Amino acid sequence: MNDRTSTGRRGQSPDIHLNLNVRGLGQSATLAINERSAELAASGRHVFRFGLGQSPFPVPEPVENELKSNAHQKDYLPVKGLRTLREAVADYHRRTQGIEVNADDVLIGPGSKELMFILQLVYYGDLVIPTPSWVSYAPQAHIIGRQIRWLDTRAENDWRLLPEELEKLCKKDPTRPRILILNYPNNPTGDTYTADELKALAAVARRYKVVLLSDEIYGGVHHRGQHVSAARFYPEGTIISGGLSKWCGAGGWRLGTFAFPRGLRWLLDAMAVVASETFTSTAAPIQYAAVRGFSGGLEIERYLNQSRRILRALGNHCWQQLTSKAGCGMPKPKGGFYLFPDFSRHREAFATKGIRTSADLCDRILEDTGVAMLPGSAFGRPETELSVRMAYVDFDGARALAAAEEPEFQQELDLAFLQTYCPNVTDGIDRLVEWVNANG
Ligand code: GLU
Repeated sequence: MNDRTSTGRRGQSPDIHLNLNVRGLGQSATLAINERSAELAASGRHVFRFGLGQSPFPVPEPVENELKSNAHQKDYLPVKGLRTLREAVADYHRRTQGIEVNADDVLIGPGSKELMFILQLVYYGDLVIPTPSWVSYAPQAHIIGRQIRWLDTRAENDWRLLPEELEKLCKKDPTRPRILILNYPNNPTGDTYTADELKALAAVARRYKVVLLSDEIYGGVHHRGQHVSAARFYPEGTIISGGLSKWCGAGGWRLGTFAFPRGLRWLLDAMAVVASETFTSTAAPIQYAAVRGFSGGLEIERYLNQSRRILRALGNHCWQQLTSKAGCGMPKPKGGFYLFPDFSRHREAFATKGIRTSADLCDRILEDTGVAMLPGSAFGRPETELSVRMAYVDFDGARALAAAEEPEFQQELDLAFLQTYCPNVTDGIDRLVEWVNANG
């Protein structure tokens, strides 16, 4: 082995050649817990996989069929995306939110995560995010070397950002360029904003010309199908981020979309320059199939309605159990597939067992019960706050969707349905409740 591969040039540790912004960073918490859960399961442990937030549902059949019939599409596609897909995405936003978007305003990428990274790279400004926020926004800013401004939220407001908090930050330095990321329905809390709350936040963003990156990846799985976009209230400053991962069950397909206001075309163009020098274009067959997804229609509506019904019933069940039987506080689920329980009531009892941080708590629960979750600290909460994120997705979505269509389940899906079709979630919650009662 030569000295470059073993310890780096002249015997230095290879670490020294790492970009300072990357040094010391670990793998993203969502992906790390998924791999850890898979390893534990492979070693024979029963794991309740509430770690990674992956849609449990299959890709709708017409979309999957479209992928099959486009397997032969092998050419590089335009950097900004396939024209027909950009049209379909623009039409989707017009149809679902009544927002004026044209195909030229749309950018397609290999996952909205990649597009967010490139946006942060090309825009020279601070990243502003509420705490808690999804695990990757802040590390992306850190890798690029941007300043990160966390905004306080409170449990009694269900962790929603209040306009006063945004105002407080902006007025300190009113002309400083900033990107605010708002995610709703929210990861990790499962909560969302009302139209009035979005209006109030939009007014502050407009006053200080903040670029609003509206992460609406869970919009399609609002549990009542009532998602409202902030772009309705701040059309000139809002970039809508979306994709196929959550409402279309296609996380592994890696397709994300950004829709820009006309006045931010310069940002779209700059992002396309970076895209052309990095990922080139998004996988061709996936883009052709995505056209079918964004075009909607009866079959997709039906799939969405059933997905929402199942998530609504399951989310409520988990929320009910954890609040009434384990003494946890958390917002009531309104969309997506996450809960953000806070176990602070048990702080003293847990401390006697050496559990002082949310990371300790997740490690101990995984060890003792097989329930895999993520610590609130991965979402920007203080380490000693005993909040955790659970993703109630560990079930066979295809089976649950088929059963939900049966006449006997035409009413609200009951506990018997959940226990039959989502047993790993209901059992995992029972285990968690038992564990808290034994240790709390
Ligand atoms: N968004 C998902 C989560 O928070 C997983 C995908 C990812 O983090 O890249 O669990």
